[in-house]
Amino acid sequence: MSSKTQTTLKEGVQLPPPDYLMCKLIDMVNVENPPCSNCDKRDPSSMYFCSTCGQALCKPCRENTHRAKMFSSHDIVQMSKRLADKTEICSKHDEKISYFSSTQKHVICTSCVREKPPESRKACVDIDVAYNQNLKKLDRALLSVYDMQSTIREGVVACHTLLEELRQNTDTEKLTIHNFVQTLHDAINKIQTDMHLEVQR
Ligand SMILES: [Zn+2]
Ligand SMILES: [Zn+2]
Ligand SMILES: [Zn+2]
Repeated sequence: MSSKTQTTLKEGVQLPPPDYLMCKLIDMVNVENPPCSNCDKRDPSSMYFCSTCGQALCKPCRENTHRAKMFSSHDIVQMSKRLADKTEICSKHDEKISYFSSTQKHVICTSCVREKPPESRKACVDIDVAYNQNLKKLDRALLSVYDMQSTIREGVVACHTLLEELRQNTDTEKLTIHNFVQTLHDAINKIQTDMHLEVQR
């Protein structure tokens, strides 16, 4: 699924409110497993990152887009190597980020959570837990999209059937007209022949 083209909404339709946690999780997945900027494919096992372009590239696209001599100086590393030093670290505590604060709409580390007053700790969710919960949410959303897709597909099939019927009706209609014209022709020809015979008599 491509995320680059945005579907335009019908007039008057409003977007649902932003889900900051979901946005953050999607960001994290995109950092860990970004799609190729050229073909949108995700292949974590063989992805590259060109620091000069600032873009992720799959193996074939890396070769295709960076073959020219002018690209030879681009700094391309394997994605896995880049990720090793890309893990998010809390700037205050130098610890790995593992929580999301719903009040701050921001990711924080375990020490950040510990520093918070107990009542606002409740608003901090473990990112791994949240990730799994949201994965389920996404699964459900995906299922309803599939449902919608099959409804649309059925509609399209029905439309096709109707169109096919219409086409057949048109063909029958054409044949009827053709036959009628043929009969007229035959009749006219017969009259003509009869008249010729009459004149010759
Ligand atoms: Zn690609
Ligand atoms: Zn490049
Ligand atoms: Zn911290």
